[in-house]
Amino acid sequence: MERTALVAGAGGFIGHHLVTYLTQHGYRVRGADVKLPEYEESMADEFELCDLRDLGECARVTRGVDEVYQLAADMGGIGYISANRADVARNNVLINAHMLEAASRSRVSRYFYSSSACVYPVYRQESPSVRPLREEDAYPAQPEEGYGWEKLYTEKLCEYYTAEGKLDTRVARFHNIYGPLGTYEGGREKAPAAICRKVALANSGDEIEVWGDGQQTRSFCYIDDCVEGIYRLMQSECHEPLNLGSEELITIDELVDLACRVAGKRLLKRHDTTKPEGVRGRNSDNSKLRRVLGWVPGTSLEEGMRETYAWIESVVRGEALVSEGLGAATA
Ligand code: NAD
Repeated sequence: MERTALVAGAGGFIGHHLVTYLTQHGYRVRGADVKLPEYEESMADEFELCDLRDLGECARVTRGVDEVYQLAADMGGIGYISANRADVARNNVLINAHMLEAASRSRVSRYFYSSSACVYPVYRQESPSVRPLREEDAYPAQPEEGYGWEKLYTEKLCEYYTAEGKLDTRVARFHNIYGPLGTYEGGREKAPAAICRKVALANSGDEIEVWGDGQQTRSFCYIDDCVEGIYRLMQSECHEPLNLGSEELITIDELVDLACRVAGKRLLKRHDTTKPEGVRGRNSDNSKLRRVLGWVPGTSLEEGMRETYAWIESVVRGEALVSEGLGAATA
């Protein structure tokens, strides 16, 4: 029989890709979000425009589905989440508390929650040569202010709902997901998209701004690996939070160099250390992921950045043509 799924946050980056993946894997999909996807039409069979901070709306959209994938969140890059802690924490706690309760009342068979590497303690991420983060490192807790505290609290809610037999939950901690069709401008974009945009807009020899001193480290996980990981986790019996990220650590300066190489441009960097840079270093330890799912993300950063840069470059070039009044001529 056809399985049905609700993807909450289906107008966003990961939710949109997940809708595509699930429809291609034979699901009938209902999407829900306050907005439609920005860059491509959704493949969802139904799409509900609604505010999921409202319990009544959560009840309405969870009705009659087998599985729920909860990806709706008020979120953005480090600049956005650092400047809007009260709104981010309040909006997300409302969405998550109400979605869990509604899914439980609607008796859905399985529930996925998208947590984040931002739940890991700041004190374990103070050096660029950080030890990769294992799931148990989340405690004693000192997560990212606002956004990270809410994620950790919702992980606990998922644990309580599962322990009390109210809902069968799965939790992934995403580590910096990137790829085509993600926000690339406006303040909510993350580092790979922001860097690709700056490189796409620059001419060889230009200078581009880099947030922080460029020595902060991260690992980045390509979107196709992320949606496959979500799907595999949902098929598993793992109820504990699981890292979903890459173990390929890179400095932000090296990421800029990679984007330049992909673009075939030589650019200079101007570091702005007044801008927020987040934790000093962060990497995923995928031992548990490998053990539990028998699988880990396989796309190299170079491959993923090639795809991402190609998409952002084409959008940025299209916008430039439109603003020069050439859009109609080339359409
Ligand atoms: P996104 O911002 O592109 O998508 C989130 C979606 O939630 C948006 O489309 C937004 O409109 C929607 N939303 C916000 N408030 C809503 C509301 N009140 N009602 C209904 N919809 C609402 O973000 P994303 O990158 O696709 O992230 C998806 C999930 O993964 C989020 O929970 C996020 O916290 C988590 N996550 C993402 C990353 C990453 O690197 N992208 C890393 C860690 C965790």
